[in-house]
Amino acid sequence: MTLSELQALERRYAIPTYARSPVAFVRGDGVRLWDDQGNEYLDFLAGISVLNVGHCHPRVIAAVTQQAAQLTHVSNLYYTEPAMRLSAALSESSLGGKVFLCNSGAEANEAAIKLARRHRPGGEIVVLRDAFHGRTYGALSATPQEAKQAPFAPLVPGFVACEKDPAALAAAVTPRTAAVLLEPIQGEAGVLPLSEELLAAARRACDAAGAVLIFDEVQTGMGRTGTLWAYQQTGVVPDALTSAKALGGGLPIGALVTGARLADTLRPGDHGSTFAGGPVACAAALVALEICSEEALLEHVRSAGERLMAGLAELPYVQSVRGRGLLVGAELVPGVSAVELARRALSEQHLVLNATGPSSLRLEPPLIVTEDQIDEALACLARLA
Ligand SMILES: *Cc1c(COP(=O)(O)O)cnc(C)c1O
Repeated sequence: MTLSELQALERRYAIPTYARSPVAFVRGDGVRLWDDQGNEYLDFLAGISVLNVGHCHPRVIAAVTQQAAQLTHVSNLYYTEPAMRLSAALSESSLGGKVFLCNSGAEANEAAIKLARRHRPGGEIVVLRDAFHGRTYGALSATPQEAKQAPFAPLVPGFVACEKDPAALAAAVTPRTAAVLLEPIQGEAGVLPLSEELLAAARRACDAAGAVLIFDEVQTGMGRTGTLWAYQQTGVVPDALTSAKALGGGLPIGALVTGARLADTLRPGDHGSTFAGGPVACAAALVALEICSEEALLEHVRSAGERLMAGLAELPYVQSVRGRGLLVGAELVPGVSAVELARRALSEQHLVLNATGPSSLRLEPPLIVTEDQIDEALACLARLA
């Protein structure tokens, strides 16, 4: 089908929630994508940090095809090896408690919110200004953005939005607080790292109030920032974290991971999902988690991130650069539109990246991106000046 045929189908049949760019991709390999015309692209978005291991990683393909030919679904009324092995691997790689598997980032945060309310019945969930935690009702209620929330009121009660300031956070957390939920680096807001002081203040406030601290690592996890989980680069250990996006190596899966203290807070019958922990997604996730845990890859993420950020800072239309590892945001000089720049990068340079706001670009290539590919992307961006 041609792009215009796809667009005709979209206009007639797809509920218009997305503003798609006019490209139809048909194939991916590593850091490269190809459209239906045979044009080759450099992918510096990775499906919004889903393809951390790169497109069509041979080990993911092997795990998925093997599992798909053997068993695709039985429900959580029974045992399957991939789900239990993935739960063990996720726990051992992070907080050491127990795992609830689900199918997306929003669902992982829904599970985290229910965990918090079991921990402190009726308690409030404190979230931060500019946060993004997903589009379902609980996750949306935790996403204090007027444009996303207002049309869908009334939201879930009990969410408190707080400024990103240690003193404000200390004041917002009270004995009524069940949890503080935050992204260690706010991804959708434009790659805004939270300060060490703010994270430490969140930890202290939660400890003092008996509340739980939950990190949404849906975007920052799976090696994206140069450690398997972003919290591992901070001085703060959360009580629980959520993962999704890159967890499945390209397949849809999410997870809530707890520390020991909250391991048995959710009880039999409290939560569930038909597809959760499906054997194919879990088989893919086991491979993705193993690849993203490799120290050599994580070291590469850190140095590649430095190279990317240094190169971006040299561009005449870039005002400042922020981020960690290969989660990178570039703030553009006044008057330059990030949306227009991302559009031109795609159409003129065949470079995939996105605008997180009118003046900021986000770059998050697969973690396997080479130094040459980083230089190639920077050369594409330099030609747009
Ligand atoms: C993408 C994202 C989500 C939502 O994940 P979905 O899989 O789209 O539901 C939640 N939190 C963060 C930090 C994200 O980046």
